[in-house]
Amino acid sequence: MLDARLVIKSHPSHRTVVQLSEQVAIGSNNVIVIGGPCTVESADQMEQVASQLSGAPIHALRGGVYKPRTSPYSFQGMGVDGLRLLADVRSRYGMPVVTEVMSIAQIEPVAAYADMLQIGSRNMQNFELLKALGQAGKPVLLKRGLSATIEEFVMAAEYIMAHGNPGVVLCERGIRSFDTYTRNVLDLGAVVALRQLTHLPVIVDPSHAAGKRELIADLARAAVACGADGLIVECHPDPDQSVSDARQALSLEAMVELVHSLEPIARAVGRTLSKPSVAEPKQLVAV
Ligand code: PEP
Ligand code: MN
Repeated sequence: MLDARLVIKSHPSHRTVVQLSEQVAIGSNNVIVIGGPCTVESADQMEQVASQLSGAPIHALRGGVYKPRTSPYSFQGMGVDGLRLLADVRSRYGMPVVTEVMSIAQIEPVAAYADMLQIGSRNMQNFELLKALGQAGKPVLLKRGLSATIEEFVMAAEYIMAHGNPGVVLCERGIRSFDTYTRNVLDLGAVVALRQLTHLPVIVDPSHAAGKRELIADLARAAVACGADGLIVECHPDPDQSVSDARQALSLEAMVELVHSLEPIARAVGRTLSKPSVAEPKQLVAV
């Protein structure tokens, strides 16, 4: 391993907990789930997502507003209008939101609305972006590059930490291999290795790994069984109509069912999967 002095564990039980909001933390004994569409598409879509997911043990919402698309002719995301939709459901449902930034210029506007900044696979080694995230003032969800080794992944996290941001969560989202039956290959060995090597929380994205909705639930359960600190899963009110990644989108009902099926698995590995109760609004006490 290269000189990963900040990311590597200092002792075997060294673990970092990354706080997304007052109630939601990643890396504690409680396994967390982030759910939502690949792309933020409309107010109605986000309302349906938030209202259904908020009733389940799902801790945070996802949704891209700046989308890294393979084709320049594909929809590139709603931009600032999408950020406003995320901010709206965030405040009304009290759930933190995670969304992707693709450039240094997007960090400031996204950090003003979101609780966590996602760095997509295609940018895992965009070193100038990683350096700038050091000063973002928000935790970072760092996705593993499409063909990144574990060492390259760890060093990308080291960049963010070395530039001043201790709030890094690693995300295994599948790597490229020779087989095209699944979109990528979910590397659960990397999840185990990263949790042994580093003190950072490690979550799994079975959606981009599998690329097919019928594979996601079993992969999600396997991820929890092997020690993942959480999951990020794509779902949509009308999955086949998703503007991006439709083939891997779960329905909202399937998403809720999946999360309930994870609870016994979490318990079997000595963890919990529960939603923190939302604090009562503070009352003014008359004296
Ligand atoms: C996404 O989360 O929608 C995404 C584009 O992920 P990745 O960077 O892992 O491909
Ligand atoms: Mn996607």
